[in-house]
Amino acid sequence: MLATTAAARSLLRASRFTTPATTVAVVRSFASIEPYSDYGKSVFTGRVADEYLKKHGSSGDILKDPSWTASHSDTVAKAVLDWAVDRGANTYCHWFQPMASSGVRHGQTGQVQNMMMAFNRTTNDIEFDFDGKNLTKGETDGSSYPNGGLRATHTAGGYLAIDTSSPIFLRGDTIFIPSAFVSYYGAALDEKTPLLRSNAALSKHGKRLLAHLGLDIGDQDVISNIGLEQEFFLVPRDQYYRRPDLQMAGRTIIGKDAPRGQEMCDHYMAPPSLSSPALACMQEIQDECWRLGIPLKTRHREVAPNQYEFAPLFGLNTIQVDQNLMVMQIIEEVAVRHGLAALMQEKPFNDVNGSGKHNNWSIGTEDGIMLLHPAKVNKATGNDTAFAVIMSAIIAAVNEHGDLMRMAIASPGNDFRLGACEAPPAIVSTYLGEDITFYLSHFKDGKGEGEYIPKLKTLDLGTHEVLPFEVPAEDRNRTSPFPYGGARFEFRAVGSSQNVSMVNTVLNTIVAEKFAEFSDRVDAGEDIHDIARETLNEHWKVVFNGNNYDEEMQQELTDRGLWRIDSGVEAIATLTAEKNTALFQKMKVLTKEECESRQHILHDHYWGTVDIEAKCLVDMLNQHIIPSVKAAGVGPLSDLEEAVGTLKTAIAEIHAAEDSYKAAQLARVLRLETMIDIRAVCDAAEEVVPANLWTLATYKELMFLDQHTASTPETEPFFDE
Ligand code: ADP
Ligand code: MG
Repeated sequence: MLATTAAARSLLRASRFTTPATTVAVVRSFASIEPYSDYGKSVFTGRVADEYLKKHGSSGDILKDPSWTASHSDTVAKAVLDWAVDRGANTYCHWFQPMASSGVRHGQTGQVQNMMMAFNRTTNDIEFDFDGKNLTKGETDGSSYPNGGLRATHTAGGYLAIDTSSPIFLRGDTIFIPSAFVSYYGAALDEKTPLLRSNAALSKHGKRLLAHLGLDIGDQDVISNIGLEQEFFLVPRDQYYRRPDLQMAGRTIIGKDAPRGQEMCDHYMAPPSLSSPALACMQEIQDECWRLGIPLKTRHREVAPNQYEFAPLFGLNTIQVDQNLMVMQIIEEVAVRHGLAALMQEKPFNDVNGSGKHNNWSIGTEDGIMLLHPAKVNKATGNDTAFAVIMSAIIAAVNEHGDLMRMAIASPGNDFRLGACEAPPAIVSTYLGEDITFYLSHFKDGKGEGEYIPKLKTLDLGTHEVLPFEVPAEDRNRTSPFPYGGARFEFRAVGSSQNVSMVNTVLNTIVAEKFAEFSDRVDAGEDIHDIARETLNEHWKVVFNGNNYDEEMQQELTDRGLWRIDSGVEAIATLTAEKNTALFQKMKVLTKEECESRQHILHDHYWGTVDIEAKCLVDMLNQHIIPSVKAAGVGPLSDLEEAVGTLKTAIAEIHAAEDSYKAAQLARVLRLETMIDIRAVCDAAEEVVPANLWTLATYKELMFLDQHTASTPETEPFFDE
């Protein structure tokens, strides 16, 4: 039983720090609550914050009002310092989220780590030193972060201010202070600031709408909760080192399909194997996350070989975004200890599913009234059709601003994923299900009155042993980009490597605008139900309950005039469309200049990513593929040699482009046309070169942990009982 204690487990872990993927790490056989008694101790919130603040004559209650940063910052700093020292930390940092980090920046955040200590030069004494000013703000030379023209090197100051909505947390010897990152003039240089501003817009106009529906929520905010399902791959680390493309660019740029892929869907939700390191790795990821107060509840295998998923319990959007960044970082770091490499990129392998991050999104009041839950919102407002009104605003927002939703998921990796039968196509519609569709269509036509009551149906298997049971009347639709799923919408097209701040900034802003529009009209004397009916009639075309993968249906949706932007590069360019800059300015989320800078940065991120991929392919051709083909005396040698020249010319053209947009457009052609043609030549070479002369890891070697198990497990038994 000794081995079930946290200390014993951590010793075990230390001893297997460099476990190769072909040996098996110890898997925990069962868990009591005891291993989780440390849950949340590394987060300065709730009971932990209360305990330490009480020692300094205050209480956790003061953290509820963000103005503590002005009135009580020294007290909070003292309490934070006490807590940090008790937990073995002596360092702090403001932890912020520079733009365009996905796929290139480890952990996707920025930080400078400072010791919480003063050093007396006369006495040589050391003492702890950390005050309210240290805690609440910081300054950094930020000229090297992408800023899209918002800041020149001679005006390089970047300012950091604590985000009071997301708790301080501790990892190792350092406390992390979630912060907003802005220029000297207050322009957003990060992902967090626009999200916070969109929360303000959602709250302001959500409150107004609720008041018109009959519910005054007083000082409370309307908030948005999200839950992020994180997909990723785990591959053997020794094989990862034999793939310069995975190491440099996060995806395989070439690679012949293995004889086996996901044809049988046999990986999906299969039992975690006790003879591969994946389960022990996932357990350790969960343990680290629990310690940071991140409730990573669900784990399972996904469809592609070596693909996995975690999902946390949902919560406030700023906290969830911060925690998701930490989850991705922890997955990458823990994987190393198990002889694995974690791949967060959206499409690491051709011809099998890529990875997404479903963004489950809902809105509610701070005291828990869920505004997308029909019975709850109708009851709280005392208004039978409150749910219908709220849904009509959201439907209108999606129809009008589908271009921005598409923009928000335009990550380089999503190029390969959207519409590939693992993610919905780049046409923005919403699935409501037949039951709600029926209800809302009656409501909009003025045919039915009263409340929407979700139906249940009974499934009877006709057996004695399995008794009839109830299921929702609605089935799921996993082909829709934005299905309603009972109390939440699920934005399914989001990419696995993304910081989802922009995704949620867009959802909040477009919905806030519609809420504002409804309230303005009510203030001007219109009836709220008439507004909702008219709005539904105007925007009804965006509701689509069918199969989004069906090409005929895609044509029909395109003909309906729904937003369809196939190219991510063009989707990014919609950020500065007049309609969109006007929206962001009206909702006080982004200025026109901030939209322009963001667009610039996203285009730079796109072509920069392609630049890395293309240079990687040149190296792989010169250093691996061409030498292999020469050594074997078989394969398309002259085509391969020609490909090197083609790539170099294309890279030079991108570098010479007049601006980021043009460079991104050229990069897209290089990536999705030229490089795909070259890939076919490389894969043809791989097909004929003998295995002993092929120097790159193959799909067979990268994707099948189950089939690469050790002949002699490192530890007997597998479970640490
Ligand atoms: P699925 O079966 O579609 O994967 P889950 O029930 O596993 O759905 O939930 C997926 C994610 O959605 C989880 O992170 C969960 O916490 C989150 N979620 C559930 N309800 C809500 C809600 N009302 N608002 C936001 N997120 C939610
Ligand atoms: Mg889901």
